Amino acid sequence: MGRNDQTLVIGLGRFGRAIAETLGQLGHEVLGVDAAARTVQACSTSMTHVVQADATDADALRQLGAGDFPSAVVAIGSDIQASILVTYALVDLEIPRIWAKAITAEHGAILQRVGAHRVIFPERDMGVRMAHSMVGRTIDYIEIDENFVLIETTAPREAVGQTLEAAGLRKKYDVTVVCVKNPGGTFTYATPETVLQRGDLLVVAGSPERAETFAALD
Ligand code: ATP
Repeated sequence: MGRNDQTLVIGLGRFGRAIAETLGQLGHEVLGVDAAARTVQACSTSMTHVVQADATDADALRQLGAGDFPSAVVAIGSDIQASILVTYALVDLEIPRIWAKAITAEHGAILQRVGAHRVIFPERDMGVRMAHSMVGRTIDYIEIDENFVLIETTAPREAVGQTLEAAGLRKKYDVTVVCVKNPGGTFTYATPETVLQRGDLLVVAGSPERAETFAALD
């Protein structure tokens, strides 16, 4: 172990399993760990390395060579105590990149205190993303940072038939059109000469407020 593309995934529920399988498909070497024999059995058809172990047991983790992994994911949600103990054990093993799933803000704060490098709130984040996608012309909403989002939306009526330069969207709405897709086409980078057509899909970057204002246009 020791290459950058090796990941330890602890907890193979829906979330952990999706991470483990996707990383596997992306060519990463993944070791999945779960305490439940039935879950390990179910994952063994789609994952190369899966073991049954209670990851709160620091000795068991050591025996699995957990300390040699450059990254680890703690995908245990409902058992908060287990999630914290496992995260602590991985921090103790000095794993350089530890992602941990939290189910509440308090859980997340503790994981951060314990030393997780990145805390993810899948249910909350997906709820936020979905709510944004239900409003105005927003099709998808991705928060890159607290003050910076990417949204997928359609071309507003006022800009149809114009180049991006002539439409002056950046000046008017303080957003940047990153790429554009014509109906039936594929996304291409936007340039000042790009002409917007009705039904075009746009990926737009900006602050959440500006991007939402833009997506609320007619
Ligand atoms: P999901 O939403 O991803 O399905 P969940 O939050 O509903 O997950 P959890 O009960 O948190 O489900 O557990 C996720 C997985 O973690 C389960 O398969 C469970 O067996 C495993 N797990 C729980 N505790 C431990 C532990 N101490 N060591 C290893 N695996 C564990």
